[in-house]
Amino acid sequence: MSPRTLPSLLLLGCLAVGDLSATEITWPTSLDRSTIRSPEDYLQPTISGKTESATFGMVREDGQRFHEGVDIKPVGRNAAGEPLDLIFSAMDGQVAYLNPNANGPYGKYVVLYHPRAEIPAYTLYAHLAKLDPGLKVNDPIARGKVIGLMGHTSAGVDAITKDRSHLHFEVGVILSKNFNTWYAAQAENRGSPNLHGLWNGQNLMGMDPMPVLQHTQANLLEVLRSQKTALTVTMRTSQKPYFVELYPMLVQGDAAHAAGWYVEFSWQGMPIRWTALDASSPKLPGNRWRLFEVDQSLRKILVQRKMLAADTKRPGELLTQNVEVLLSGVR
Ligand SMILES: [Zn+2]
Repeated sequence: MSPRTLPSLLLLGCLAVGDLSATEITWPTSLDRSTIRSPEDYLQPTISGKTESATFGMVREDGQRFHEGVDIKPVGRNAAGEPLDLIFSAMDGQVAYLNPNANGPYGKYVVLYHPRAEIPAYTLYAHLAKLDPGLKVNDPIARGKVIGLMGHTSAGVDAITKDRSHLHFEVGVILSKNFNTWYAAQAENRGSPNLHGLWNGQNLMGMDPMPVLQHTQANLLEVLRSQKTALTVTMRTSQKPYFVELYPMLVQGDAAHAAGWYVEFSWQGMPIRWTALDASSPKLPGNRWRLFEVDQSLRKILVQRKMLAADTKRPGELLTQNVEVLLSGVR
């Protein structure tokens, strides 16, 4: 082999082995990411005072309550104690949803959609004092653009006091474009209309934001795939769920001729890998879907998260809801 051909072969080898793609990431508050030395430098805990309560996971109420994002504290406040931090778009994308009213737990919030990232992810910015008035749904938005001002807006059981002002930041995937129909069909939702459409928290499934935020670049697909499979579900449907259409990079096998799916879920309820099942597959469930396997080492957190029922054998309420949303609109 001549030395001249070596570099190009090496390059081809790299492209074949790993996905070199990376999305540029801007830290979403006025904090300079390079000054962070410890988690206490950016995390805003709950009134418990425990740093962990600001991170992603079952970190609230002694592990009984899930926190779907990360809570980032302000670096500056005015004389009245209100935060001065601007909130920035974490990556290039488009404006998906604007909620300028403090009418729910997220308070005033913005959702951005990032169709050109390695997976089409959403990012969510909650508890804002105000939204940038120039934002319009479906407009493109550049990474680092101001989208609002940090605040402490929230309606519901947990009021956020001024001293605990923070940005609640989420990143994740959308479950279904049929969510609105599914929501309207649920008896328990009678009398409580869906105020947020497809951008309702029940249709959004977050992952730990820190592997995305901690560096100036991230491969969102790799971050999503690095999550461990906690349980699997098998489904019977000859129609493609919306999730499969939207996230083909998470799909293996012959999607066009699938009679059903073998779906791997992370512990918090994100579908992270879909394998097409053909009509002769012994994995195909007799009915619409079933819980197939459980990683027994994660049993405790799966019960806490309601992915498993308390008896650890049956699907929990959250798993049932997520699967029903994923299968809504398909037969
Ligand atoms: Zn939060």
